[in-house]
Amino acid sequence: MSDFLPTGIQLTYLVAASLFILGLKKLGSPASARNGNLVAAVGMLLAIVATMLDQHVLNYEMILLGLSIGSVIGAVIAYKVQMTEMPQMVGLLNGLGGASSALIAVSEFWRLLDSSQPIPLDVNISMLLDVLIGGVTLTGSFLAFAKLQGLISGTPITFPLQQPFNLLLLGSYLAGSAYLIRTPDSLPVFLGVVAVSLVLGVMFVLPIGGGDMPVVISLLNSLSGVAAAAAGFVVMNNMLIIAGALVGASGLILTEIMCKAMNRSLFSVLFSAFGSVSTSSGGAAAGASDQPVRSIDAEEGAMMLGYARSVVIVPGYGMAVAQAQHSVRELADQLERMGVDVKYAIHPVAGRMPGHMNVLLAEANVAYTQLYDMEDINPQFEQADVALVIGANDVVNPAARSDKNSPIYGMPILEVDRAKQTIVIKRSMSAGFAGVDNELFYKAKTTMLFGSAKDMVAKLVSEVKQL
Ligand code: NDP
Repeated sequence: MSDFLPTGIQLTYLVAASLFILGLKKLGSPASARNGNLVAAVGMLLAIVATMLDQHVLNYEMILLGLSIGSVIGAVIAYKVQMTEMPQMVGLLNGLGGASSALIAVSEFWRLLDSSQPIPLDVNISMLLDVLIGGVTLTGSFLAFAKLQGLISGTPITFPLQQPFNLLLLGSYLAGSAYLIRTPDSLPVFLGVVAVSLVLGVMFVLPIGGGDMPVVISLLNSLSGVAAAAAGFVVMNNMLIIAGALVGASGLILTEIMCKAMNRSLFSVLFSAFGSVSTSSGGAAAGASDQPVRSIDAEEGAMMLGYARSVVIVPGYGMAVAQAQHSVRELADQLERMGVDVKYAIHPVAGRMPGHMNVLLAEANVAYTQLYDMEDINPQFEQADVALVIGANDVVNPAARSDKNSPIYGMPILEVDRAKQTIVIKRSMSAGFAGVDNELFYKAKTTMLFGSAKDMVAKLVSEVKQL
């Protein structure tokens, strides 16, 4: 048994790792994503069961206690959290992941210190990296959560001599680590390194604006994976190393995708304090234009939609806030019954988190085949009779193509202005996330349908039914 167990555990870890990779692959398409999630969850279950069978486990009672408390808290949060609060929720969970990894290094340090065993160099270096990355992830993620939740101001926080102070912190970490590599059993220096790592996390996120937090959270998610992999090296656990590496790599890819879709470099997100008070710098400020706009009511909107041959629905952040996805699907169903061809155009950063629109529309049971990525739908706008924009703003702003001074210049957009008619549902002329005016609203082919997305779409449904 004792010979079999470790091999059995390693083999189970191998199966679990394969399931993680298969699950990730399936997450690449909306059609297989649910299944992918399930496959990866089975992998995680296998990994947990195998770890629980490990002879190194000292105390099952404590594990069960932790599992029960964690499951209850997790279930309550999952039940209560709104879709629009997902980015900060993910941030919070990343932070806890970083904390767990850092705690593994701390407890291992303590154990080795107590046992008076020499601390091997590779374990020592892994512990120091684990403490740094885990610590930064913990405090950085908690600060990102606080900014997104509105607990503290979302504007970048800067102070004089911030950069030299950060360099001083980094220098202290490096000096402490160098000391610990030569004198591994110094508890005060180790605790000092832990403290500096925690402060570094705060300093990393402090100067970044609330609007850029989702990118930062994605990066911290990647870091939480790297911290887990480092923890894996500390306790020599292959599963932790593999799972951590997968999270680290996929988080980095997601960060890169988000930066590309916002036409920003990761460097500018992290170091240029964009998303601050001055998001409207360059380009026209919100509501700055005194050009007239053409406003219609639900009855006119319903006529335009009902008599169209093809309609492209463009959802955005406003649809998410209003939770209008179910009414939107109802409208699409009704139009299809009347012979209208309906498609949905999905911008990669519409809303406030990656895949925000896909998640909401999937929740409303919209068929995946009706969802079109930006590259696929853009050439089709010219043939569309009506583009129906629901609570989207920046992702349809033509200034991204033409206004070099606009903060969103160069961001790829959904080209709704090429459709024969465009209807925009929003409550006012207010700007979107980037804080700039949208010239789309003033175009001759655009009509504004002012109102909250849920009410307005419900009105459209009842008007369309009467046609
Ligand atoms: P925007 O934030 O540009 O615009 C949303 C619009 O929705 C607003 O103009 C607002 O206008 C309207 N709105 C708000 N509430 C309602 C409501 N109840 N009913 C109807 N309309 C409403 O959203 P987009 O989706 O177009 O663009 C997303 C932006 O977020 C991009 O700039 C992107 O870069 C950024 N971003 C996205 C991330 C992601 O991961 N998806 C991450 C970080 C940033 P009004 O107040 O007049 O109603």
